[in-house]
Amino acid sequence: MSYLEQCRLCPRECGAVRQSGHRGLCGAEKSLRVARAALHFWEEPCISGQTGSGTVFFSGCPLGCRFCQNHDISARCFGKDISVQRLAEIFLELQQQGANNVNLVSPTQYVPQIIEALDLAKPELKIPVVYNTGGYERVETLRMLEGYVDIWLPDAKYADPKRAGDYSNAANYPEVAFAAIAEMLRQEGDPEFDQNGMMRRGVIVRHLVMPGGMQDSFRVLEELANLRQKQHFLLSLMSQYTPYRRDETYPELNRRVSSYEYRRVCEYAQELGFEGFQQERSSAKEEYTPDFDLTGV
Ligand code: SF4
Repeated sequence: MSYLEQCRLCPRECGAVRQSGHRGLCGAEKSLRVARAALHFWEEPCISGQTGSGTVFFSGCPLGCRFCQNHDISARCFGKDISVQRLAEIFLELQQQGANNVNLVSPTQYVPQIIEALDLAKPELKIPVVYNTGGYERVETLRMLEGYVDIWLPDAKYADPKRAGDYSNAANYPEVAFAAIAEMLRQEGDPEFDQNGMMRRGVIVRHLVMPGGMQDSFRVLEELANLRQKQHFLLSLMSQYTPYRRDETYPELNRRVSSYEYRRVCEYAQELGFEGFQQERSSAKEEYTPDFDLTGV
């Protein structure tokens, strides 16, 4: 827990003295806070399967994406403070409910507590652990998780520092995120699946196609293609971008991505030889964002 004395867990490195109750830029304080722990059926098919992924939504977030769909928990840090022991119980309860994996959503700011909880749960936890992140991660923090995480599920949001600065207040996102993905690939081998097609280990990189962001999506894919030369991973191209609220500063964010934009990005991914997943554009978008009502906490 000494990590919380002057927190540098994420690339913000804000140095918050969380141990004394100070709040970091991510919104987190000393305590471990969770907004929901429940089966979730709208991840990639090899993550959700028939019985669902055991998602644990952590409160707070190191990124500040202005279009975030989980605004209540990311920016407002809604959730309930729980103990490390309780988090370990939650992991096992999700396994008991039939979850294909424990899916840690936005976990960065609680990595030390999560490691403690995984140590407690380890003797009984048989399902893989998924680390589901916006991609804004320090390599040093990811190294703490080596041997604890089986499946890395990072976003690769931007290649353009200006867009990263404008939309997520993180102009260094591209260099940070691609270095983080390289570290995740170093820790994992090729993707592995069980007899039912469920992922046991590996890396899936997600990219959300954004309105007006097609050229940057192409650059993201090119960066990822470079990384793939060293280690295989799957690519998940997402079309679910939905305006969270009217944005007066960046009006280009006030619409959904067009069919043309999404199709062109998918075509380019195919040209580059990526394997993975695409989303139905007609998919019901509300389902991707569950109610944050402390279910299962
Ligand atoms: S995880 Fe939160 S408290 Fe820690 S460095 Fe990042 S923003 Fe600051």
